[in-house]
Amino acid sequence: MIIKPKIRGFICTTAHPGGCAAHVNRQIDYIKESPSIQGAKKVLVIGASTGYGLASRIAASFGMGADTIGVSYERPASEGRTASAGWYNTVAFEESARAAGYIAESINGDAFSHEIKQETLKLVKEKLGKVDLIVYSVASPRRTHPDTGETFNSVLKPIGQPFSDKTVNTNTGVVSEITLEPATEEEIENTITVMGGEDWSLWLKALEEADLLAEGVTTLAYSYIGPEITEAIYRKGTIGQAKNDLEATAHTLTKQLERYDGKAYVSVNKALVTQSSSAIPVVPLYISLLFKVMKEKGLHEGCIEQAQRLFGKLYSGATVETDEEGRIRLDNWEMRADVQQAVQEAWSGITTENVSERGDLEQYRLDFLQLFGFGFDEIDYELDVNPDIQ
Ligand code: NAD
Repeated sequence: MIIKPKIRGFICTTAHPGGCAAHVNRQIDYIKESPSIQGAKKVLVIGASTGYGLASRIAASFGMGADTIGVSYERPASEGRTASAGWYNTVAFEESARAAGYIAESINGDAFSHEIKQETLKLVKEKLGKVDLIVYSVASPRRTHPDTGETFNSVLKPIGQPFSDKTVNTNTGVVSEITLEPATEEEIENTITVMGGEDWSLWLKALEEADLLAEGVTTLAYSYIGPEITEAIYRKGTIGQAKNDLEATAHTLTKQLERYDGKAYVSVNKALVTQSSSAIPVVPLYISLLFKVMKEKGLHEGCIEQAQRLFGKLYSGATVETDEEGRIRLDNWEMRADVQQAVQEAWSGITTENVSERGDLEQYRLDFLQLFGFGFDEIDYELDVNPDIQ
């Protein structure tokens, strides 16, 4: 099969196995070139196949020498269709990690379900014994509740009043005004059910009941805050309510983990191009302006640089530095006053005509393509490849 990108709105419906492997291997190379970290050795990553979860898994194995089990929900190849990028990433990660001598096992299925939790516990017991780090990095538009079978959908909407601002179609470069209607109470609740902390605590409960938590265990989940520009749609919107819930869950979990001398943290990460963030209105425009500013200031990072910095902070041996809410702040460079001021200046008066000059749409598009294994110079996209790899 000759595989080319097929972009529909903010998703790409194809993925390239060789390109995804190149993406994974670049991240592995970055970690191998970074100083190694004495940290976790037995790691479970939930949401391990793309974005922050994949980067965490790579940094855990190649940076800390950890054996890993990854859970994700990806599509295998089928008649005439490529697998999803996360599928190919997982295959590539397992191959490289195993070649380097680490245990790397993966489970593909719905992490929200009791069945996948039980299957994972069995595998953890068999392959890892107890775990000393659990990274929770699931991002999903829906969740079927394991007890009731009811399916909830999350929405990306403002709360209280309509919100209008500029957005960009990253494919065409057209900047336009978008108005989003406020969420209903039910939509807010549903978004919290999908993206809040309940499933994270169900994972910890299941691991504890199966006696799979090691002494000194750490668990991590990821959040975002962001600037005033995206506040109405992000932090003060429906997803922000879910993140408040996730952050509150960290405090509850830390209490529960006291008997293991363990700790639950939320790390507030930087805005980056991932399959999840590209679906949020307004955010891709903000990201393309942010990238330009951060690159100019030599502060630009991707998921892998963030994961490496995070583990460096967590396992430095010193007290883990947090903000007054107990969160680790990996967004400290994004939120620096000089960075935000420059982004704000670029934002005011942004139009289709000046967006390419004020923002880094090229980098945005390349990052987006690379999420699906496209845009790598070392890959010949004219070659016939087998999409069905396991
Ligand atoms: P992503 O879309 O790249 O990754 C999502 C992962 O979740 C994938 O591995 C996917 O397979 C898995 N997943 C989805 N539904 C699942 C299910 N039902 N069962 C099992 N696995 C499932 O997303 P991301 O951007 O890396 O987001 C991860 C976390 O990081 C989220 O909490 C997100 O809010 C947070 N975060 C993202 C950004 C950003 O800019 N992208 C910034 C800060 C924080």
